[in-house]
Amino acid sequence: MLEKPKIRQVLDILKETYGHTGTALKFRSPFQLLVSTMLAAQSTDKQVNKITRDLYRDYPDPQSFLKLSVEELEEKIKSIGLYRNKARNILATARMLVEKYGGKVPQTREELVKLPGVGRKTANVVLSVGFNHDAIAVDTHVFRVSNRIGLAKASTPEKTEQQLMENIPREEWSAAHHWLIWHGRQICKAQNPRCEICPLRDYCEYYRQVAGNGQEGTS
Ligand code: SF4
Repeated sequence: MLEKPKIRQVLDILKETYGHTGTALKFRSPFQLLVSTMLAAQSTDKQVNKITRDLYRDYPDPQSFLKLSVEELEEKIKSIGLYRNKARNILATARMLVEKYGGKVPQTREELVKLPGVGRKTANVVLSVGFNHDAIAVDTHVFRVSNRIGLAKASTPEKTEQQLMENIPREEWSAAHHWLIWHGRQICKAQNPRCEICPLRDYCEYYRQVAGNGQEGTS
């Protein structure tokens, strides 16, 4: 894991590179953000935005979602991966929100993770992006990129989240989550990280190890 001064420099470079980027998901309420985040698992934000544009126009809140049968919702989201499971979970979540929370999305992680199909990562996205609470949601990009660079050195998303919270100032948690996602999408890709154009090359532990093996930026 990188030492604190280097972590600071990495964060400054990420900030300079990605600035005030937020989520690419389009939503108008915490409920819509929650549904979009559930849909986005194993799919792309672009694909999710494509279907939610019409979906949220006709069904903007949990109450209106309850007018849909599982089959009807499946039909509307069938271009998304795992759509059958997602349709069931989204409707069960909408029902719980209406019955238990008066149609509002709760604002604590403990309550959020009790909603059907909502895990810690989704809960953290809602807390951080929807409610501006300090949280670091560790998705596949954040996990890969932060462990490659050396902002964390952990084998699970939970441990990575813990280490990132220790290594990154609290006020930057939310922004850092987005920086790492954008960096993972655009440069530090899973299969072929583009180390040759990466502004973090001088700091990155993965790059040092790979370059040391004479395989600069190819794996
Ligand atoms: S140097 Fe390569 S592995 Fe390291 S962060 Fe940049 S793209 Fe990712």
